[in-house]
Parts: sequence; C-alpha cells; structure tokens
Amino acid sequence: MKTIYLFDVDGTLTPAKTRIDSNFSNDLSTWIEGKEVYIVSGGSYERIIDQLGVSIVDKMAGVFACMGNIFYQKYDSGQHGQYSEWKLIYENKFKAPRGFYKQLDSVVRESSYDSKAIHHYEERVGMVNFSIVGRAATQPQRKAYADYDAMEKEREQIVKVLSKRYKSLDFVIGGAVSIDIFNNGNDKSQIIDKHFKDTIKTHKIAFVGDRIPAGGNDYALAEKLRKHPNGGAYEVGSWQDTAKLLKTPPFTS
Ligand SMILES: [Mg+2]
Repeated sequence: MKTIYLFDVDGTLTPAKTRIDSNFSNDLSTWIEGKEVYIVSGGSYERIIDQLGVSIVDKMAGVFACMGNIFYQKYDSGQHGQYSEWKLIYENKFKAPRGFYKQLDSVVRESSYDSKAIHHYEERVGMVNFSIVGRAATQPQRKAYADYDAMEKEREQIVKVLSKRYKSLDFVIGGAVSIDIFNNGNDKSQIIDKHFKDTIKTHKIAFVGDRIPAGGNDYALAEKLRKHPNGGAYEVGSWQDTAKLLKTPPFTS
C-alpha cells in the first residue's frame, strides 16, 4: 500500500515563523522525489512559500494553508510533467459571532501581560489568528511572551474561557504566541473528509506535526488519522527531529 505524507510547517519543517534550514531543505527535496507529499499548515500560502521556498513547495502534490481552510493542488500540464500549475480547489469563510472582535479586544485589555505590541488579530481564510503580544511584536518580544505564557499558561486560560462563551467556534493554541480560532470542525482534520476520504481507503496517510497533544493545532488531524486503520501521526519537537524521522520507516518506503 502506497503512503501519502502530510507535513505541518512551523516547528516541524522550520523553526516557528522562520525559513527552512538550507541543508535540511536539500535533504527534504531529495526525500520528496517520487513521493506524494502535502503541506498542512496554519500559515497562509504566501507565508508557506516564504518559509519553504518555491523549489520545495513546487515538489508538493498540494498545499492546505490556514488550517486546511484553503487548498491548492498541483496539476502537471504540458509534456512529461515538465510544467505544473497550482489550482485553488476550495476556500472557507470564517463566520464571526456578534461582538466577537470586541470580545477579543477586551481579552487583550484584561491580560496582565504588560509589554504588548499592536495588531492582536488577523483574519485569514476561514480562521482568525489571535495573540496577546500582537502581530507587530519583534522576535525578542515574541520570545518574552512565549516565556511568560509557558509559566502562566495564559493562552490555555483564554482558550478555556472563550470556548465556554462561543460554542460555534473552536480555539487551539497555535504557533509560539498565538491562538487559532475557527468555526467548529474547520481545523486541520477537515482535509480528510474534503480531500482524502476515498484515498485513505487505498493508501496509508502519515502526518508529521509538532502540536499533536490535546489543545494543539495538529491534534484534530492526528486523532482522526490515528483512529483510521490506514492513518498514522508522528509527533516531533523540532525540524531536526523530522530530519531524523525521514530516515526511518514508514518514511523510507
Ligand atoms: Mg506546528
């Protein structure tokens, strides 16, 4: 049975929000040859290209961006697959409950973290990315918040409170400093029903991610795959772990 491979990006193929290591990029590029590989990321398509580079992305069979809320598939056109083009297959819209953004503003105001930058939420395709430290934060500011959050578990608390209040939304801790918010079920796991429903009957599907534990943005997809006889999920702590993983079965088949 052929295996199809799915990879998260941040913390799995690259450090969070950073470009792929150049040596690993070469190894990954060689590894992909002859395999069917997809990206399943919380980031936008543009950011994925920025992080992985065009040469890696062009070797993918498809890219699920924004938590699987937008899907681009690659088609080989022209002779011998020499020319390929990307097609938009589907795109979801995020439906915000009444007063939702005002509520996010008040969560920011009420946070006791004092070194905040601006731009606390960003609407992406089918989701909202929310952070207390702010999207305008510098890397040192992000790092400082990540340390604070590791101690105080602020994001966990926010997720708990907002989940109770908004039953039509799902909240997960994503990336190093943010929370991803989407309409129920529009998380990474949606890609199975939307794209791999038939494929998984005849192929194995292996997913690699760094946020597989409950509450993480890889959890729903990992759970769905682990419940299926042909599915599997592999947790890594960094891209270096992924580099090692690619040298072991089933990644060597
Ligand atoms: Mg990740």
